[in-house]
Amino acid sequence: MRSLRVRLAVALCAFGAGATAQTALPVTLTVDARQAPLKILHIRMRMPVEPGALTLDYPKWIPGEHEPDGPIGNVTGLHFTANGKEVAWNRDPLDVFTFHLEIPAGVTTLDIAFDYIEGSSGEYTSGGSATDKLVDISWNQNVLYPSNVPATALPVQANLILPADWNYGTALPLDHRSGNELSFKTTNLDELVDSPVIAGAYYRELDITPPGEKIHHELDVVADSPAALNFPPALQTDMTNLVAETGKLFGGSRHYRDYHFLLTLSDHVAHFGLEHHESDDSRLPERTLLSPGGLRVVGEILPHEFIHSWNGKFRRPADLASAPFAAPMQDDLLWVYEGLTDFLGNIEATRSGLWTPATYRQFLATTAAELGPGRPGRTWRPLLDTAVAVPGMFENGQPQWRNWRRDTDYYEEGDLLWLEVATIMHDQSHGHKSLRDFLQLFYGGPNHGPELKTYTFNDLVAALNQVVPYDWAGFFNERLHSTAATPPLGGIENSGWKYVLDGEDARGAGDLAYSIGLIMGNDGTVADSIVHGPAYQAGVVPGMKVIGVNRRLYTPALLADAVISSRDVKTPIELLVANDDYLRTALVDYHGGPMAPRLERDRSKPDYLDEFLRPLAR
Ligand SMILES: [Zn+2]
Repeated sequence: MRSLRVRLAVALCAFGAGATAQTALPVTLTVDARQAPLKILHIRMRMPVEPGALTLDYPKWIPGEHEPDGPIGNVTGLHFTANGKEVAWNRDPLDVFTFHLEIPAGVTTLDIAFDYIEGSSGEYTSGGSATDKLVDISWNQNVLYPSNVPATALPVQANLILPADWNYGTALPLDHRSGNELSFKTTNLDELVDSPVIAGAYYRELDITPPGEKIHHELDVVADSPAALNFPPALQTDMTNLVAETGKLFGGSRHYRDYHFLLTLSDHVAHFGLEHHESDDSRLPERTLLSPGGLRVVGEILPHEFIHSWNGKFRRPADLASAPFAAPMQDDLLWVYEGLTDFLGNIEATRSGLWTPATYRQFLATTAAELGPGRPGRTWRPLLDTAVAVPGMFENGQPQWRNWRRDTDYYEEGDLLWLEVATIMHDQSHGHKSLRDFLQLFYGGPNHGPELKTYTFNDLVAALNQVVPYDWAGFFNERLHSTAATPPLGGIENSGWKYVLDGEDARGAGDLAYSIGLIMGNDGTVADSIVHGPAYQAGVVPGMKVIGVNRRLYTPALLADAVISSRDVKTPIELLVANDDYLRTALVDYHGGPMAPRLERDRSKPDYLDEFLRPLAR
């Protein structure tokens, strides 16, 4: 009985200590990023505390990343001091993100110091975030917090020290700047983590507030070179259109004070987009905006992250809105959080001019192929499971066996699914209602700044039914649990188009995934081999390297030629492949010629897709 009493006493102390929320004093956090080019940040914190047991957490479940991937392994040089004396710490053996301390009598302030090593191999924000010329600050990587105070109730006053002459962009309201030291207004920890900062030697900002829009919108960009900031003028026009289009889409409802697109252009950072309520954190290769297809790439990421301000930040599945950052998230509604966002992002990319309608149609065709013949894994793994399993296997970053694993299909399948929803709403209401009516109902309301309103599956279904009565629960459940080999093509078909996979649009050998069933990496490496496809049947699997084609040394052109002429020859394509360091011959019995997915107009129906893609704001 003794041990129980001791444990109880410790537990009570833990609730009594570190009662920061009850005091007016904020935690102060200073991130010294002057050595960011050397890939190390120096963090200092001052935290009001009370004597007794204190438990501190490092953020573990990262919003938007949907998994427990806080980069705890990059926390180094950790020291706690009180009144100038070192305070001992222990890491929790059952949760390595948690630290236990005993605050001595008479102590009211704890000083915390640690270094954060800028990672290079992690995913998303844990991946590369600092180069010689720039840094992307994700505050969750640079903070510890008392485990007994909700992040939404913990006041934090953050400071950032930058290398001399660097500039910065963020949605976090600034209190004052003194040289290279930025002092931000006190906010709560949840909002701080939701407000990253990008900074660098080469910085440019564009005002993208459309005429008549009361809320300020800007695009802040840091890059590894001044040349990378030499944007085509269309960028400002299209991004301004994007802001205007979202105004029409959501009936003028916005849920932020102002919005900052934060874009990092570097070959030395991880490439992704991450949503926040009043900004995004998007990172693309350095020369993206100097390249001919640059605006198309921007259109893949920035509209998606912007839509998240409504769908994901303002409205969030209740299961995903667990107490930040220690409570596990449940990802079962990611087909709404990410799927609907992906759909709306691509629609808005097209309406704003970043994409053309032809780009959008090609995206739909490619998606239908990737999720159809390119995804045999759908015969064992339903769409819902691709969402539910995220905390254990988010993307895993590898193309190998993706066709059989399935990966994060709730993004792209969400595009097909929500297009079908849009067409059903249009058809069932005989054109009187549209998806926009649902969006304005579900995501509308007054602007209170960053605000969270959670929802459940039943709330979603009820809102859809309020706009257009239909068996929405049955519709979603059928698609979420299906193990059919074909993806949902109803949206494409209802909107006046047909998905076709043939050789008509194939340039050269077309897409090898849909002919011989191979996705080739560099140097002949097999990135993926479609399970049960011709190459797979011949014993070619991911990770092998193609050395020869029809008894000649492999080149991409030789393999393409073999596929192009496959219709005219009766013999199989002979591949010499290396499996580890053993050689084997594979006979790929394929005679269908080049293949490529495309959409073909179905003249028996009106072109609702064309109508749907038209700009609303111009
Ligand atoms: Zn997203």
